[in-house]
Amino acid sequence: RARRLAALRDLPAVTRDGRRIELAINIGRPEEIGAAEAYGPEGVGLFRTEFLFLDRSRPPGEEEQRQAYAAAVRALRGRRLVLRTLDVGADKRLPFIDWPEEMNPALGLRGARLGLARPDLLRTQLRAVLRAAAEGPISVMFPMVTTREEVRRLRQAVEEAAASLDREGIPRGRVEVGIMVETPAAALAARALAREVDFFSVGTNDLTQYTLAVDRTSQEVAALYDALHPAVLRLILEVGRAAEEAGIWAGVCGELGGEPLATPFLVGAGITELSMHPRALWEVKQVVRGIRYDEARQLAEELVALATGEEVRRRLRGFLEERG
Ligand code: PEP
Ligand code: MG
Repeated sequence: RARRLAALRDLPAVTRDGRRIELAINIGRPEEIGAAEAYGPEGVGLFRTEFLFLDRSRPPGEEEQRQAYAAAVRALRGRRLVLRTLDVGADKRLPFIDWPEEMNPALGLRGARLGLARPDLLRTQLRAVLRAAAEGPISVMFPMVTTREEVRRLRQAVEEAAASLDREGIPRGRVEVGIMVETPAAALAARALAREVDFFSVGTNDLTQYTLAVDRTSQEVAALYDALHPAVLRLILEVGRAAEEAGIWAGVCGELGGEPLATPFLVGAGITELSMHPRALWEVKQVVRGIRYDEARQLAEELVALATGEEVRRRLRGFLEERG
């Protein structure tokens, strides 16, 4: 079985009826790209940049960041790098940030909200990203967005960073600009937000936490945490359909993206990029190659109308068993 999976490495992830799905990896450091090559990733769908900022008393400078991002770009040799801007909140109290006292850090100053509150940090990171983009394709992605106003301000920050580099005569590339959809608000407003961005990537870990009101780190309520709850699926479907209508791409970079059982649903919901742990790539590819997009579309509509995550799982298992 392992050998059969390995034979998939160089085959495209395409459904039986010809829908192409891009399979990418999640990384937390540039070195992880080299280590993942054996699995044949088509790009990086989530580069978490927190590693540069943790465990230090001062934030990394523009040049240090540029080098780290450029290392990832070079390792990808032309494949796309989706780079997420700093995503921390008061639960990870970085010493160079003046954290407020918050009762609910998960609902507080975090993700892109922090970037907008600390424009100096955001500007430095965006300048570094734009400079690294001179060496290969980068898509910049903002976490924890809920409003159109935020999206516009973040886009403007990208434009201002680019303009400042141009004024200084510093070489830079162009970047796609997208958002993580990881709040119910962003998913429900996806049709409006799709007009403002180049892509969506669904963060199912936080989307599940916020949709179900279940702290993703709490053992006490872990039994209630279920990314296949029909309420979560309904939001993902909304995102996929909104992206299709607007003609932008939508991916999934939360854990659900690397869950083979969820693949028929995600493909059917209109998701065209799945980003995951490298070890999940072959199994997900095997599922993509075994299903039809037209059938998966119908299945997705059916699943969001079910009552429980258990019913969803049962239906998905049946769907996959029928297809060998
Ligand atoms: C997510 O929320 O699904 C996600 C991919 O980001 P993180 O797990 O880093 O919050
Ligand atoms: Mg998240």
